[in-house]
Amino acid sequence: ERYYLGIDGGGSHTRALVLDDTGSVVYRGEGGPSNVLVVGEERARASLEEALATWTDSVTGGVLGMAGADRPQVTRFWQTSAVPRIGGPVLVVGDYRIAWGALTAFRPGFIGIFGTGSVVYGENGTQALKVGGYGWRLGDPGSGLELGREAIKATLNALQHIGPETLLVGPVLQWAGVDSAERLISRVYDEAFDWRTVADLAPWVVRLAGTDPVAHAIIDRQGAEVHRQLHQVCRRLGLDRSAIGGLAGGLAPFWLEYLSARWSCSGVPLSLASREPVWGAAEWARRAFGNFS
Ligand code: BGC
Repeated sequence: ERYYLGIDGGGSHTRALVLDDTGSVVYRGEGGPSNVLVVGEERARASLEEALATWTDSVTGGVLGMAGADRPQVTRFWQTSAVPRIGGPVLVVGDYRIAWGALTAFRPGFIGIFGTGSVVYGENGTQALKVGGYGWRLGDPGSGLELGREAIKATLNALQHIGPETLLVGPVLQWAGVDSAERLISRVYDEAFDWRTVADLAPWVVRLAGTDPVAHAIIDRQGAEVHRQLHQVCRRLGLDRSAIGGLAGGLAPFWLEYLSARWSCSGVPLSLASREPVWGAAEWARRAFGNFS
């Protein structure tokens, strides 16, 4: 029996999916975060282990779509650490490429991933284009981490009376377990602080956007950037109405609704990715390593 493995490695979750020759799902697994740039190599490797915990067979080939894999050092890391575990040839690509494959079934179109991090990527048959994907150090527009970071800054500004009061103060202080601006700053620089948890604040920004002007302004600023990124990729690739545009990731439903009234690009519709990115990875592996005519 021949098996094809797909991995979707993100800032918060790692998903594994194995297909057989017919494209049927024979295994599914999940693990913790595996963006090496956010959680480090040890945690990332452990997350892949978790996702493959009860898979014991070897595979004919695997495609790993990993956040951070647009940096060569990250690609090298996965090539050397995943190949022995997987026991077959492995192709390591950016997470956005498998998400694009899942959305479009490898046909012209673009995908915006809005999860812990964010990135926009598209292909038109001859060209590929990626925008964003700056990572957590620089900040990814419309991502969970960026909304969370904005909430923290708005809270600091409010507490120091240099910005408007905001309903975000309560949830942010509670999240950090502190009661002052100074302690909030120290908390974020604690040795043990896990930067990933900043994304836990994003749902508060989304929830309060309807009632709190500060949360509303954060959403509008980030939303404008999200729109510019998607529009740029759609336009520069010269996509037409036959192309598929879509969003994936935890914040995808929110941004899709936010954009619905504003979106326009040569009639390309915007939708939620219905097939999971990890399917794009496994199907890619099946097409690349299987022998079909
Ligand atoms: C990372 C990218 C990744 C994107 C979406 C960004 O923070 O830098 O490598 O593709 O998040 O997960």
